[in-house]
Amino acid sequence: MAPPNFVQVALPLPLDQLFTYGIPDHLADAVTPGKRVVVPFQHQVQTGYTVEVVEECELEKVRDIEAVLDEEPILRPEMLKLCQWIAQYYCCSLGEALHCTIPAGLSVRTSTEYSLLTNNLTTGRFTHAQRAIVAHLHRSGAQGESDLKKAIVSDTLAKDLASLVRRNILAKTTRVHEERITVQHETWLTLDGAKSLSGLDLVKLQRRASKQAAVYLELMRAGGELPAREVYRKHGASSTTARTMEKHGILTIEQREFYRDPLFNTLPAQAEKHELNSEQKAAFDSMTQRIAVEEYATFLLQGITGSGKTEVYLQVMEFALEQGRDAIMLVPEISLTPQTVGRLMARFDRDIAVLHSGLSAGERFDEWRRVQRGEVRIVVGARSAVFAPLPNLGLIVVDEEHDSSYKQTDTPRYHARDVAIVRANMNNAVCVLGSATPSVESYHNSVSGKSERIELTGRATSGELPEVKIVDMRAEEREHSGELVLSQTLEAAIQLRIIRGEQCILLLNRRGHSPFVLCPQCGWSAECEHCNVTLTYHAKGQYLSCHYCNAQHDVPVICDKCHFNPLVYLGSGTQKIEDLLLRSYPEARIARMDRDTTSTKGSHAEILRRFSNREIDILVGTQMIAKGHDYPAVTLVGVINADTGLTLPDFRAAESGFQLLTQVAGRAGRGDTAGEVIIQTYRPKHFAITHAAQHDYAGFFENEIQFRESAAYPPFRRMMNLAIECEDLLEAERSVSQLHRVVRQQLETLGFSGIELLGPAPATIHRVRNRYRWNLGVLSKSSKRLNALARAVREDFAPQTPQNVLLKIDLDPYGMF
Ligand code: ADP
Ligand code: ZN
Ligand code: ZN
Repeated sequence: MAPPNFVQVALPLPLDQLFTYGIPDHLADAVTPGKRVVVPFQHQVQTGYTVEVVEECELEKVRDIEAVLDEEPILRPEMLKLCQWIAQYYCCSLGEALHCTIPAGLSVRTSTEYSLLTNNLTTGRFTHAQRAIVAHLHRSGAQGESDLKKAIVSDTLAKDLASLVRRNILAKTTRVHEERITVQHETWLTLDGAKSLSGLDLVKLQRRASKQAAVYLELMRAGGELPAREVYRKHGASSTTARTMEKHGILTIEQREFYRDPLFNTLPAQAEKHELNSEQKAAFDSMTQRIAVEEYATFLLQGITGSGKTEVYLQVMEFALEQGRDAIMLVPEISLTPQTVGRLMARFDRDIAVLHSGLSAGERFDEWRRVQRGEVRIVVGARSAVFAPLPNLGLIVVDEEHDSSYKQTDTPRYHARDVAIVRANMNNAVCVLGSATPSVESYHNSVSGKSERIELTGRATSGELPEVKIVDMRAEEREHSGELVLSQTLEAAIQLRIIRGEQCILLLNRRGHSPFVLCPQCGWSAECEHCNVTLTYHAKGQYLSCHYCNAQHDVPVICDKCHFNPLVYLGSGTQKIEDLLLRSYPEARIARMDRDTTSTKGSHAEILRRFSNREIDILVGTQMIAKGHDYPAVTLVGVINADTGLTLPDFRAAESGFQLLTQVAGRAGRGDTAGEVIIQTYRPKHFAITHAAQHDYAGFFENEIQFRESAAYPPFRRMMNLAIECEDLLEAERSVSQLHRVVRQQLETLGFSGIELLGPAPATIHRVRNRYRWNLGVLSKSSKRLNALARAVREDFAPQTPQNVLLKIDLDPYGMF
């Protein structure tokens, strides 16, 4: 029997097909499904994944694979199957789906090498340039393409090489370099030894190269040095920017050794296993019964923070392990703290792998291999840990299942909770979704019987639910006659805590000092030049910042338009609250937690550590502070403005508002002293606020589900967003009409009725990072129809659209604005 000669390869490209390649003899044994291979594609090479080995191929001409990168398969049949589902459901290619299940960043470098096939040297004639190539290779042996380019300066080099290869005078081979990192290095930018810029130089630089100026200012502010990655991300700069600056002597680039985040090496003590109370026991029993008989089930474990959900997870995980099954626990990225990991490690020792973004590519790959070889039994991690290749999966826990960070915003735009359910089902495993405020979708599924809801109604330890007061800011402002940041009620409550030496948490979901800088005379406001948003004034560091593209600007002194001054600063962010508090309570220790104070590694954990050690009295912050652990001395939670999220043009606005308020309210009164929550709002009657104030999830859900049903929004229909992005306004508009036309045509061709289109409409923030954005929402009862439509539209639309127009297909979209 002749050996199979062909292999089907999935490429991580937006092309909805598998590609067939030949298997050269010397690789015949190495090629099996689930490995990474290097293949020629168009004029380059690509890394792909082998899907199936086949004996026949209908194509006339197939090219051979060039290299096999893995000794053992890295993708099990299970993962291929899961990815087929992802590709189908989220409308991407199998290769794209597979690509996101293996550790990111582990790319393969390839290079091309040319060598002489000497015995052919006498055949034919050479041009001058060709002779130079042949002579060079004759002298120095096989050469890499880049070395050849250096040695031989010729415009026709590529063409000559190709011609020599065609004539069998040269052999062309692809070399694969896999990067295996042992000691980690990180690039830092520093002002050390660089010349300092005068004010005038800086103004010039700002005009000529604003990115460079921004990078320079950022380094100044940070005391002279920062990891490059952080600076690049913040300012949309790249290594090119830094290299140019280095060339001009403005900064130096350094490679520094980088250690794995020590955060995850600490072992907090809490290892104690608690005897489950009756509600926890009931939950444990239902879940473990299914694990014992290896039967798929999804449970919704609903319980307020502190009700003992984690204790249930831990004991069910232990049970799964005893049964010889493995477990995954997903947590939102922000909750992946030393406490979380420490609690697991304390219980399960080193039988754990943590997959988190703090690991280097090499470390992550090694960690991942450990998982795959069955060397660990438990994986904890954020979103992508749902793909952890545990060989014998029995349990997936999704903590805070309602958290929007489980949704991936790039291709493939999967939702980790939904992938977890599908994967559990494929493995006859149990999926546990935990939350104090379940997503409307998950709660609805428990009502309709797709999952089993189990409630933990009390707190596992002492501590009552805090009393919540709603403060009507309209009334307060009338009395106070003017804009008010802290109501009298809240001020008095803060003062009381300071006197009693208790801790407060204040939430304002907006960072910076003031979100608007306005001219009182002509109404001009400082706006981002790349986005349709106003710039936020940051008092710390004195700059204006765009919260969409991170561009930074100097603070204007006079109006751009009418030259009036002074300008006014309107609205409040966390910095303004911090300032106010510092002035009112100079004796209090005040800290702020938002993206600006947590941008460096470990700073988030450091603030939480200080707060938990009671080195901070008042913690002001954005939604980041809503999630966290037990702080028994917190007796007051204040919400400065509960309306921030509620006004967003998104059908989930009320849901996420309710979730945030409930979460943050749960931070108060975890110890022996009763807690108090004060919510300031201009909409005191909004149902998201009133139900949150009563800790009434069921009441909220009843209200919300009626709205969803009447509008036939999810979960009553599935939603898809077709988004267009383009830098050119007219091109964007043209493409949107084109897309609209294609969608309507396809609906007709496919014979789909009962599908509703929302829009197309410009996104609420029409332009971000210079790109104009449009949305076309599609609602249907059938996700199959949405998938079919998406595929047809993509196929039809792409060929008629210019390169600079981007079509994004998003199933079950979040934040469509
Ligand atoms: P959640 O995950 O719902 O926020 P946790 O599992 O973290 O709740 O429990 C909150 C606190 O109560 C923790 O300090 C935990 O150790 C403790 N706890 C949990 N279950 C019990 C129990 N059955 N008996 C006593 N203490 C418990
Ligand atoms: Zn003006
Ligand atoms: Zn911007």
